Amino acid sequence: MSTAALDADVCRAPGDYRVLTGDRPTGPLHLGHYFGTLHNRVRLQNLGVEMFVLVADYQVLTDRDVADRLGDHVEGLVLDYLAAGIDPEHATVFTHSAVPALNQLLLPFLSLVTVAELGRNPTVKDEIAHSRQSAVSGLMFTYPVHQAADILFCKANLVPVGKDQLPHLEVTRTVARRFNDRYAHGGPEIFPQPQALLSAAPQLLGTDGGKMSKSRGNSIALGATEDETAQLIKRAKTDAERHIGYDPENRPEVSGLVLLAALCQDRDPRLVAEDIGAGGAAALKKVVTESVNEYLRPMRARRAAYAKDRAYVREVLRAGNERANAIADATLREVREAMGAAY
Ligand code: ATP
Ligand code: MG
Repeated sequence: MSTAALDADVCRAPGDYRVLTGDRPTGPLHLGHYFGTLHNRVRLQNLGVEMFVLVADYQVLTDRDVADRLGDHVEGLVLDYLAAGIDPEHATVFTHSAVPALNQLLLPFLSLVTVAELGRNPTVKDEIAHSRQSAVSGLMFTYPVHQAADILFCKANLVPVGKDQLPHLEVTRTVARRFNDRYAHGGPEIFPQPQALLSAAPQLLGTDGGKMSKSRGNSIALGATEDETAQLIKRAKTDAERHIGYDPENRPEVSGLVLLAALCQDRDPRLVAEDIGAGGAAALKKVVTESVNEYLRPMRARRAAYAKDRAYVREVLRAGNERANAIADATLREVREAMGAAY
């Protein structure tokens, strides 16, 4: 189904969908996360779609040797969610490490994929190229199967994500299909084959023209100050052409900045570029800085208010973990039964 058709169906029947998405607690969320997936999550939640949001703490070590300041990053992620509009009354926010039964699904799921399939994953290859690890670990190759456990433990059928996650969604669909084929014994399907929902910015570029990424020093954090935002955009890469245009194919750096301003202004990027035109890179950066700061101002104010109430942040996770555990225990029981309790 195309993105537009899927989106229309979700709007028509939000009760038919259950969403799971998540992020790793490796640092503050940035505009790539926001326009790639978080904005969609909030929209779906407000439509009435059931929502699970995972703080993926067990996946931190996929591309690094140590998990720095894990507690701070977990709290920061929850603050980013709350500030963006995730509402714990309607969304279950939880962490891997608090839900053991979810992680146990990894074992049977690993038996359903081949080593060759794991090695072919293009996102894993890209992440290995940018990894901070001293040597590539087995976790780097197996975390997409862990993501299948993340999504399938609650039988989510819709996953709003950025483009980099599409190969992982394919792994999840494969795991679900093979599990059903092997263990459903002709009865009703045990797992759905979830669909990815891309946003209007499935791969937002950072200030260096590459994918905006926490780990690549090219991102604008949702919680950054207005000054930090201005400094980052001031240093952003542009190109030698004087006139500003929107041409993502041939001018990725300039077009990435134009798109950022356009998303914040909710306008067509071609019109934003046209307005700047002969003003060149300096005018472009001014527009981007003002648009981003204006767009994020209310979110940043909400974040600062929630940051003063750490007890509330802890309570959000406690309640979310409790709910996720009940669901994970039930799914694990079902899986064990289907497999003849071999695990
Ligand atoms: P990063 O990818 O920024 O280094 P991460 O690996 O910790 O951080 P992920 O867990 O990969 O974060 O991303 C969380 C979600 O945000 C995923 O759905 C991913 O597709 C989306 N996302 C991340 N970066 C971007 C981007 N630049 N543009 C669009 N979506 C993005
Ligand atoms: Mg990533």
